[in-house]
Amino acid sequence: MIREELIFVATCDISGHVRGKGFPARELGSRLHKGVGWTGSNLMMSPQGPIWDTPFGTAGDLMIVPDRKAEVRVDFGDDSAVEHFFLGDICTTDGAPWECCPREFLRRAARELESAAGLQAIAAFEQEFLYTGTEERPGDAYALGAFRRQGLFGEAFVAALREAGVPPDTFLAEYGARQFEVTVAPAPALVAADRAVVTREMARAAAHRLGHRAVFTPKPDAQGVGNGVHIHMSLCDASGHPATYLEGAPLGLSEPAQHFFAGVLHHLPAIAAVTAPSPVSYLRLVPDRWAPTRIDIVEQDRGASLRICPVFAAESASEKARAFNVEFRACDAAASPYLALAAVIFAGADGIRRSLPLPENRENPPSLPGKLEEALDRLEASEEARGWFGAAHLEAYLRFKRVEASKVAALSPAELCAHYAEIY
Ligand code: GLU
Ligand code: MG
Repeated sequence: MIREELIFVATCDISGHVRGKGFPARELGSRLHKGVGWTGSNLMMSPQGPIWDTPFGTAGDLMIVPDRKAEVRVDFGDDSAVEHFFLGDICTTDGAPWECCPREFLRRAARELESAAGLQAIAAFEQEFLYTGTEERPGDAYALGAFRRQGLFGEAFVAALREAGVPPDTFLAEYGARQFEVTVAPAPALVAADRAVVTREMARAAAHRLGHRAVFTPKPDAQGVGNGVHIHMSLCDASGHPATYLEGAPLGLSEPAQHFFAGVLHHLPAIAAVTAPSPVSYLRLVPDRWAPTRIDIVEQDRGASLRICPVFAAESASEKARAFNVEFRACDAAASPYLALAAVIFAGADGIRRSLPLPENRENPPSLPGKLEEALDRLEASEEARGWFGAAHLEAYLRFKRVEASKVAALSPAELCAHYAEIY
């Protein structure tokens, strides 16, 4: 068959979907500068697709400009179309960053942490999903049998990740029915978020070529366990030295790390609207499902929003300091990794600026919001969040999410799970 290679340039938007436009690969030279056309209202495409409400109207032009450092080209070697795409920045037509660009929001967060404390955030996303190409069997949790029965998917997925420049770390059959988990190597914030987007897309791309789906919805089944996205985080100083761990300090956290994570806890009721951003996210955040429910930081409890991760078999103090990380568990794949990581970093930087202490009496920690609307009200009420987003971006975000919540308000938990399993 006659064929010509295509390239796609994309943003990962408020809905968490990767959206953009394609063009013939031979036009890449000029497209690196002029990108592809976009509009303000494109930001308001709901997870379901339609633009239900938009502050941007029908006017105005923007462009998504590819980032040369965020190129993915994966040939699955099965004669299917090559996966060739760039992640990009939404810019105004003169090339300046658009105030609502998700990647720019994350860059601003990284700059804020740098200016608050001279620190850089390092992150790695651990993501769970269902693979539909395997049957559910009792006893499958973490089982070699489940690992084997997914067939070629795991190998194709891991090969695609490596080809895409995302170093794979682990791939396993998780606790839930047909559930798998993947972890990848840590990187500075923007690269880490790019990697999270690429990881999801490579899982979907590998599954697609095998005639199946990788489903990242936060809660596939109202009775079962959810699909979490856990953001493993650490801090390093300007010269790249680890700055999170301090031997003998409370929870092993250095002073800036204590303030950083105190800031994350302080702002969690508001930033949950960004990290757990869909109505179905709140069916995941329930007790006894290995998902977080409490606004707390602990050493070894998966019911807390922040978990100090164990360091396995470190041979030296410096190796321990490098491996030491804190896991933000109140996130899922309905969130754009850019927005979620940015919200966490902004919250942490605010904790550092205000020298917030870690909570002292942790007998009875507060709970995460019980539903999206509650988190959105907290986000709207947060003066700090208004500053991080900027007024126009925050207004767009709140409108987007409130309409989404209202559109699915009548669905039962089972219907809500089924609906979002189609979408993510
Ligand atoms: N599936 C759990 C969640 O919804 C996480 C399980 C784990 O600790 O990896 O976050
Ligand atoms: Mg897991």
